[in-house]
Amino acid sequence: MTGIGVVRNDPRHDKARIQLAQKVAATGVKNRHVLEAIATVPRHVFVDEALDPSAYDDSALPIGHSQTISKPSVVARMIELLIRPKKDMGKVLEIGTGCGYQAALLSLVATEVYSIERIRPLHDMARHKLRPFRIPNLRLIYGDGLKGLPEAAPFDGIILAAAGLGIPDPLLDQLAIGGRLVAPVAKSDEKQQLVMIERVSSQRYQRTVLEEVFFVPLQSGTV
Ligand code: SAH
Repeated sequence: MTGIGVVRNDPRHDKARIQLAQKVAATGVKNRHVLEAIATVPRHVFVDEALDPSAYDDSALPIGHSQTISKPSVVARMIELLIRPKKDMGKVLEIGTGCGYQAALLSLVATEVYSIERIRPLHDMARHKLRPFRIPNLRLIYGDGLKGLPEAAPFDGIILAAAGLGIPDPLLDQLAIGGRLVAPVAKSDEKQQLVMIERVSSQRYQRTVLEEVFFVPLQSGTV
């Protein structure tokens, strides 16, 4: 695991982080590295101070600009799905940095993490919130995640934190053979499903449809 500095240290939060990891484990997440990451990253740092009392609830919370910090058990489930059995997590791409919480978690389980955000103030906020942690293996990019990040491809894992009607082709192209992509996909206005795609060969992708989820929409362009 890569080191992550402790900021705004408060014993109340230490206990809350461990309890959050326990809540996440109770939802069925088993991967030790993922649970350790949840127990390590202080989630209160990533939300507004007014939301401090709810920071360690297993729920999504507003982060401004009509976006949310995702629900911890869902984030953990998705990272668990991204990790291939018996293989190290090499290079990972996250679409939708938001406030940076999931990016911080990913930095603890992968060798290299790239995270793209399309809303400039959120990208800046994530940069500001992550700076004190001095995470050496995490790069934040302001841009349109629908295009992926060809200059850093191929990726062993690609994770989307927002739901589109399908998976953008550039992201499928930028997945390494043997790599996995995990994303919420919208079926209708109300219904979204978690999808896991494995690239079996240069032309073949294997798709597994999992449980229903609820995410903010994947949008194109930058603002
Ligand atoms: N990863 C965050 C979740 C943020 S919510 C967490 O740790 O909780 C999803 C984010 O995806 C929003 O900030 C939204 O602006 C962003 N997003 C939506 N479409 C995008 C796109 N095409 N490229 C990059 N980011 C996008």
